[in-house]
Amino acid sequence: MNKKSYNPFEVAQKQFDRAADLLELDKASRDLLRNPLREYHFSIPVRMDDGSMNIFRGFRVQHNDARGPGKGGVRFHPQETIDTVRALAMWMTWKCTVVDIPLGGSKGGIICDPHNLSQLEQERLCRGWVRQIARNVGPLSDIPAPDVMTSAQHMLWMLDEYEAIHGTKNPGFITGKPVGMGGSLGRKEATGYGTIITVREALKELNINPEDTCASFQGFGNVSQFAIELYQQMGGKIICVSCWDQEDQTGYSYRKKDGIDLIELLNITDSFGGIDKTKAQELDYELLPGEAWIEQDVDILIPAALENQITADNATKISNRVKIIAEGANGPTTPEADKIIREHNIFMIPDLLANAGGVTCSYFEQVQSNSNYFWEKDEVLGKLDVQMTSAFIAISEFAKSKKLYMRDAAYVIAVNRVAQACSDRGWV
Ligand code: GLU
Repeated sequence: MNKKSYNPFEVAQKQFDRAADLLELDKASRDLLRNPLREYHFSIPVRMDDGSMNIFRGFRVQHNDARGPGKGGVRFHPQETIDTVRALAMWMTWKCTVVDIPLGGSKGGIICDPHNLSQLEQERLCRGWVRQIARNVGPLSDIPAPDVMTSAQHMLWMLDEYEAIHGTKNPGFITGKPVGMGGSLGRKEATGYGTIITVREALKELNINPEDTCASFQGFGNVSQFAIELYQQMGGKIICVSCWDQEDQTGYSYRKKDGIDLIELLNITDSFGGIDKTKAQELDYELLPGEAWIEQDVDILIPAALENQITADNATKISNRVKIIAEGANGPTTPEADKIIREHNIFMIPDLLANAGGVTCSYFEQVQSNSNYFWEKDEVLGKLDVQMTSAFIAISEFAKSKKLYMRDAAYVIAVNRVAQACSDRGWV
């Protein structure tokens, strides 16, 4: 099957249905949780640098807020669809619940390609998104954050617009802000570090020394870069990194069998995580097709790009050596591929857990912003480690005791907690 034919929202609903069946959830809870509570679709007029007007489409989906205000990023993507945003909002609900932070699930998006927009156009677009949704989001109702192709600078423009509209300072409105402007130390590292904290725990369970392992990564954006940093610090060897090439509109995998040096690769990478392939070849990287990252003879695979990347077609190419897959991205594995991985007994660290470090640190940022008192980086990262490790242990113990696949265990824990909150509130 072609991966373009996957609808992420259908995938998210299928995953939810599996958990709902395992929990024997009642019909009202299923009907409530299978769909978002609210969603907003809007047009964003933006004055372009040449004086013309361009109308962009924007979205915000609030899946569930029974456990606390909605929380989730805003993505810039040329192929953004409402169903992708719906799926991502639902995944945020489960993710916040798995790490047990008092937040619900939301997601936003704008159909655009920031590669083709100047800084000023991006600023107007961010402000325009906030102008359309300012009445329906806020520090006590729904808190945005960065995601694919959005940065701390975008968050600051969004905050500034929100504060201008409301006439008050509201640093808790958004997370992922620049450090010194209400941002938290450790936030930019948090998602990637969180992924590797879960990998560390999985290796402990499997009795494997991290120094004896090697890994292949898909994506070289914020998540991958910091995951690679911590994995390297733990003594792991990176064999392959794949990423999108904007010029050729295709992906490439960059391989060095003796191990990739993060700093060397960062030196030839643009701000969107795009690697300069000519320079890479000069530095003796083997240039392979985009999908080659998944076929590498490694112990650990880390998909950290977009959804629906591991499919029934390429899951069969995963090497027998692979022991762990840690989903740094949201929704990288289709249900058919998941079945193959399950049957091969690979230790799956599902997205709900593996990439929850970002939102966990966003929660810390909110706490710091709201109290206007900021913590040292070591304190932030220490608290992140505790939260991620506890969530990992809870899920893996539950998986072992109930003989469940890790993804099913994470889902059952999350859906059960959210359904309970809805029931306690009298919603179902
Ligand atoms: N966009 C990140 C995610 O998918 C972080 C969300 C947040 O910090 O609210 O988890």
